[in-house]
Amino acid sequence: MISILKPIAVALDQLEVAICIFDAEDKALVWNDTFLQFFPEHAGHVHVGEDYRDNLRRFYLQRLSAEELPQIDRYIEEGVLRHRNQLRAFEFDHHDYRVRVASLPLGAYGRVRLWRKTAPLLTGMQDRINPDTKPLPTQILPDTAMALESLADGILMVDEIGRAIWANHTFLELYGLPSTDALKLRDFAQLYTQAWQHEVPTAEYVASLGLLKEHQRFSGAPYVLALPNNRWVRVVELRGTQTNGSNFLSHVDVTESRQQQEALKQLTQHLESLAIKDALTGLANRRRFDEVLESEWQRAHRSKTPLSLLMLDVDHFKRLNDTHGHPFGDEVLKRLASILAHRIQRTGSLVARYGGEEFAVLLPDTDLPSAAKLAEFIRQQVENMSLGNENTGLVRITISIGVACASGTALTASTTALVDMADRALYQAKRSGRNQVAAATP
Ligand code: GH3
Ligand code: MG
Ligand code: MG
Repeated sequence: MISILKPIAVALDQLEVAICIFDAEDKALVWNDTFLQFFPEHAGHVHVGEDYRDNLRRFYLQRLSAEELPQIDRYIEEGVLRHRNQLRAFEFDHHDYRVRVASLPLGAYGRVRLWRKTAPLLTGMQDRINPDTKPLPTQILPDTAMALESLADGILMVDEIGRAIWANHTFLELYGLPSTDALKLRDFAQLYTQAWQHEVPTAEYVASLGLLKEHQRFSGAPYVLALPNNRWVRVVELRGTQTNGSNFLSHVDVTESRQQQEALKQLTQHLESLAIKDALTGLANRRRFDEVLESEWQRAHRSKTPLSLLMLDVDHFKRLNDTHGHPFGDEVLKRLASILAHRIQRTGSLVARYGGEEFAVLLPDTDLPSAAKLAEFIRQQVENMSLGNENTGLVRITISIGVACASGTALTASTTALVDMADRALYQAKRSGRNQVAAATP
């Protein structure tokens, strides 16, 4: 494959088209001389196998201002996402030129990016600083205006330095403008800000404003902006279509698809939490416990730290159910779960409903004496907990706890060894009269 791509890359030099091909892991494979001419910052640095991230880091290092620099990792990650997902060509300014970049997937081989210079940038900052020195742009032709009015998308026409000249009805409605007179040669960022002027600025607005400025300066790729009243638009800049230098920005209302995406995201999160949570107590379920036990076991093995486990079981719970009814039993389990969740909050620790009236507490980086001490503390808390209602009167419960700890060579065995040890200790606590803690002898 590479042997075919290399001559193509060289041939593209003759057309002044830059090319860089990346493999499926975003590592650079092949590029041509024009690539190095367009992006001189890569000359002498880019090498076969270089991660696209490193490539982007160099690109941004020389573009970002001192204030923007702390954001570089975010710029890079967004650049990688754009690289992977880009569907249509877009333009951005680089050095003295405006560059158009296309990107195509190469199936299992990876991705190719192609760049072509479209126009030299307007030199002389004076034009940008003082737009009034420029002659007024020509108005839109009636035929063109008619055609653009019939589109469902919002269209904004700007002149060669980005001043708004004309907009169709949909655009004016989207941005809350009464007529094209209200455009007043403002640039799009100003119109966007103006659309929010009577609204309380939301976090989405602030993020969108940052995104808008960033995309106009750095990427040129389509972007999505928040509008008041929970509306969203996707903005695509169409450049180089007019001989007089004017450009169009198309604004598609994507509110509905955003809402669907959001609903789908929430549903997915909900389903994911259902899969790992116990419905009654909200604690991690047995499945989640097994997963975390496995990963904490590996971690303890790697970091040579002890891993402790408490197995808790309510004493005579069947009797409680029989006396006060199953729903009351459920309430007791919920109260117990909340005591455990409150007490065990260290990062990495996990409280799970192991099954029925049995709970498991996983304690990374905890030795046996500390685990036993915590178990005793929990036992006392439960013993002193008052339960009950007007029907049941005051109810007290007790729990038995088995404690086990694995460390050193024990961590080479299977995770079930730890569970077995804690189980045996729990059985011991029950046999010795319940309402007590028993620690497994290693
Ligand atoms: P021991 O002190 O030996 O642990 O006695 P026990 O009665 O607690 O133990 P046993 O295993 O005989 O009974 C456990 C009871 O827990 C039986 C079951 O009905 C009850 N149980 C299990 N899951 C739930 C639940 O979700 N809600 C309620 N209310 N009861 C449950
Ligand atoms: Mg029990
Ligand atoms: Mg039990």
